Amino acid sequence: MDKSTPHQAKDSSYNPEPSNSMALVSSDTDYDSTDQAICLTITGQVQGVGFRPFVYRLADDNKLVGTVKNSSQGVIIEIQGRSDSIFQFKDQLINQLPPLAEITSLKEESIPFDHERSSFEIIISSREDGHNVLISPDICICQDCLDDLGDPQNRRYLYPFTNCTNCGPRFTITKSIPYDRPHTSMACFPLCPSCQQEYENPLDRRFHAQPNACPDCGPQVWFTDSQNDCLAKTDQALEKTVAALSQGLIVAIKGLGGFHLACQATDNKVIKRLRHSKNRLDKPLAIMVPDIETADNIAYISEEERTWLEGRIRPILLLKKKPDISIPDEIAPDTNLIGVMLPYTPLHWLILQRYKDLLGYKRPNQPAALVMTSGNNSSEPIILSNREALTRLGRIADRFLLHNRDILVRCDDSVLHILPNSQTSLYYRRARGLTPRPVFLKQSGPAILGLGAETKTTICLTKKDHAFVSQHIGDLKDSETFDFYRQTIFHFQDILQTKPEAVVADLHPSYLSSQQAQTFQLPVFYLQHHFAHIHAVLAEHKHDGPVIGLALDGTGYGEDHTLWGGEFLYVHPEKNDHQRLGHLSPVLLPGGETAINEPWRTAQSYLFQLGVSEEKIQRQSWWSSDEQTPDFIQKMLEKSSHCIQTTSCGRLFDAVAALLGLVRIINYEGQGAILLEKIQDPFETSWYPCHTYCQNGYLNLDTLNLFAAVYEDWQNGQDPGKISRRFHLGLCHGLVSLTSQLAEAKGVFDIALSGGVFQNTTISDYLPQLLTKSGLKPLVHTSTPPNDACISLGQAVYGQRLIHLES
Ligand code: ZN
Ligand code: ZN
Ligand code: FE
Repeated sequence: MDKSTPHQAKDSSYNPEPSNSMALVSSDTDYDSTDQAICLTITGQVQGVGFRPFVYRLADDNKLVGTVKNSSQGVIIEIQGRSDSIFQFKDQLINQLPPLAEITSLKEESIPFDHERSSFEIIISSREDGHNVLISPDICICQDCLDDLGDPQNRRYLYPFTNCTNCGPRFTITKSIPYDRPHTSMACFPLCPSCQQEYENPLDRRFHAQPNACPDCGPQVWFTDSQNDCLAKTDQALEKTVAALSQGLIVAIKGLGGFHLACQATDNKVIKRLRHSKNRLDKPLAIMVPDIETADNIAYISEEERTWLEGRIRPILLLKKKPDISIPDEIAPDTNLIGVMLPYTPLHWLILQRYKDLLGYKRPNQPAALVMTSGNNSSEPIILSNREALTRLGRIADRFLLHNRDILVRCDDSVLHILPNSQTSLYYRRARGLTPRPVFLKQSGPAILGLGAETKTTICLTKKDHAFVSQHIGDLKDSETFDFYRQTIFHFQDILQTKPEAVVADLHPSYLSSQQAQTFQLPVFYLQHHFAHIHAVLAEHKHDGPVIGLALDGTGYGEDHTLWGGEFLYVHPEKNDHQRLGHLSPVLLPGGETAINEPWRTAQSYLFQLGVSEEKIQRQSWWSSDEQTPDFIQKMLEKSSHCIQTTSCGRLFDAVAALLGLVRIINYEGQGAILLEKIQDPFETSWYPCHTYCQNGYLNLDTLNLFAAVYEDWQNGQDPGKISRRFHLGLCHGLVSLTSQLAEAKGVFDIALSGGVFQNTTISDYLPQLLTKSGLKPLVHTSTPPNDACISLGQAVYGQRLIHLES
């Protein structure tokens, strides 16, 4: 069998076994001709997830004898007994896996029968076995642990750090391998006799659960004010937290992969205060609700979305907000979507349950929803330690809920959106619950480090046929984030026990990631940004044949030193063939990359290029509301001074949004495009023409005249909702027509789609459908985001192939 999916890790012996092998099943069965002996080699997420105890129990149930052990090839099971029992054993093995286990391959062979064997044993693993040691992602609390938590008779009743082999923290509490307690932040909590017993019993749910803890021996919470004066401990601390929240205070809560800033999601005043002090003016804030029923009252939820919300990864899911709910628009003023997650740790679960109980008593009509946004100042990385939180969040938070289990590895919440029509999942941020699961590659290759881009950065380290993309790191221009980036590079090398043979960087000379390349004393390869985007999506599909790549993106440094970002590319990974076939209409960015944050500049540039008179442009009074008057831009454009040429698709969206008066200067990435998408009139069915044209050997898309159509309608006073819709549809139709021409010309019908513009739901839902209708085969991202978080993956797989071709 080979049911490979991109999410399963080839997880290895992170649960070292006890030093003595354990015997089970005394068997004095008389073997007959129906007896059989086989060896099973299993790969996938089968190590450190309670897999061997599971095998042990199955062997016991079926009266079979043999051994199970970890090896560098995977888990090896030697088993013998009656052939019908073996048949049943295999069936149960595949179909009754422990919650966290996943099998990606299973190899079976006959072995000689060992008549001496009379029991089933778990054989210890030694460090020298050369295991593919890997730490599992953090997993949300399981139902059994929730039951423990809610049972007044249980010794873990209301204990916020309850976990077991099937759930709990992993990645975020582990600094280095092997994954066992001394290498985790649980090292300073010696197990009490009861916990020790559970830990040592192969039939217990907590057998070798490294973070195992109870109120007697494990971490504790406490509640302080911003002066670090302790106001309450343990259960009282949770009670005080909830009381503070319900009184309109902001509480910094130490969670799993970092701090959250929490406040009531129904309280306009506190949300405004939070936004102001965190300098997060309009960017959407995520909320946490106690259960799916509360989520149902707030947003429309499909079956697929429900599965994600309640699943063990527990990302923030972007859902369509219901009208007339008491969650104010301030939560996400620029979009109709709302980011919702359910509690994923016992601590969060206890807080949300208490909050719900409190409201039910005082304000039954108010949804029990709390804002849970990353605990940081805008653009800095999420905060990890108690001390850091008190100093750096003291200005924002009124109270602090702290605990003494250290977070060793920073990991934000993952963010995901299920596309309304295709029901496919689109990642915006890949972090908690997913990292460090690898992307499975088509073939094995040398270890390569992909250094990523600049914003939304990740790194990627390959090991054989696995590509390990790091958690979301962020914008490297922030110095704290840059430190986090450096740490992540070393952390991944450490936990994967892999040293890269080469590094691959972006062509952009001023990206800090590219500047890092020379510091490794290793061969450095450079890959243009948009080719990296395409390589990433191809890697996810294990596709190495030729494709037409559509990179619809913000901006990336081009091979001709202009800023690319709306590119039609030919990529043939197997032959290492890369060509630029076409692009969007080039325009100038007045002030260069400054225009990325000031879409009004780009709008003016489009108008200038269309020959709209300066006088007419200046008449738009809202443009000149700033100290920088439009004629300043005009002069730049006329002289082409301080301007960079771009073919960016993201900037086209910016320009349209600015022209329609939706945005002048953005306060977070993509704001213009998000506002433009929001105002679309979904009932509008016509679209603007968007033609192709040939120039200098390229087949280009005439997006300048697409903009002209927008301008004309806008001048005629057309409704902006209709304009926006016609623009979105026009662009999609234009893209499909150009892609079809290129596909015919090249005889290539696989179309790879990547780039930040695919965060636009309309484009990522509609464009693949249109391409399919035209007989083309779209390949979209399935396990990394289409934004620059995928760049490191594209770089690393490109590097692997390059070295392979050279050798
Ligand atoms: Zn559990
Ligand atoms: Zn204990
Ligand atoms: Fe990009």
